[in-house]
Amino acid sequence: MHFVFPPASQVSVAVADSDARFPVRRIFCVGRNYESHAREMDPNAKREAPFFFSKPADAVVPDGATVPYPSRTKDFHHEIELVVAIDRAGRDIPVQKAGEHIFGYAVGIDLTRRDLQSEARKQGRPWDLSKGFDHSAPIGAIQSAVAVGHIARGRIWLTVNSNVRQQADVSEMISNVPEIVAELSTLFELRPGDLIYTGTPAGVGPLQPGDVIEGGIEGLGTLTIKIGPPAGRSS
Ligand code: MN
Repeated sequence: MHFVFPPASQVSVAVADSDARFPVRRIFCVGRNYESHAREMDPNAKREAPFFFSKPADAVVPDGATVPYPSRTKDFHHEIELVVAIDRAGRDIPVQKAGEHIFGYAVGIDLTRRDLQSEARKQGRPWDLSKGFDHSAPIGAIQSAVAVGHIARGRIWLTVNSNVRQQADVSEMISNVPEIVAELSTLFELRPGDLIYTGTPAGVGPLQPGDVIEGGIEGLGTLTIKIGPPAGRSS
């Protein structure tokens, strides 16, 4: 078989303490999974079951990279999140069995064009343009569950130019990781390589070119990215 142009190379994420990499298949994200963030987005928000959206696999950005300031936004936001890496397929996975499908965990940032998201919400339109754009999914090295265990609690934080913007505990999630895996597996057959960004706590806010963002989760290490100038025209 040959192709009319070379197929894209496999997107992958580093695995801590290993030379093997985690091949990425799909990126799912949970919306409003911490009450503190749900309230900052909507003061009248009621506690509700999380919902999902997605990003393309090639939105992945590795630790240490520079993210170009995205086009068509004036309100580019950070959202620090625990990321779950799936390595075993499953549909209708019971909550108690969810751990058997999880390879490991990583620190991630769900980068968001907040102005486009607010507009989409107002107009009842999809979130793709506000969430699934190029370079929108920074992720640090994946720590295997064999090495670090399953993550149910621990400090989650994010700084911009060393100023603390987000700080919470993973245990404050509305739906915990096994519940998220179980719920998502009723909507999609989960497959090896799927990543799940599990939602962000309060404190989201704007980024500017030149900003240095560091995020971390207790037990998983840190993730650092820098915001660069807009990418500009290409052809
Ligand atoms: Mn998010």
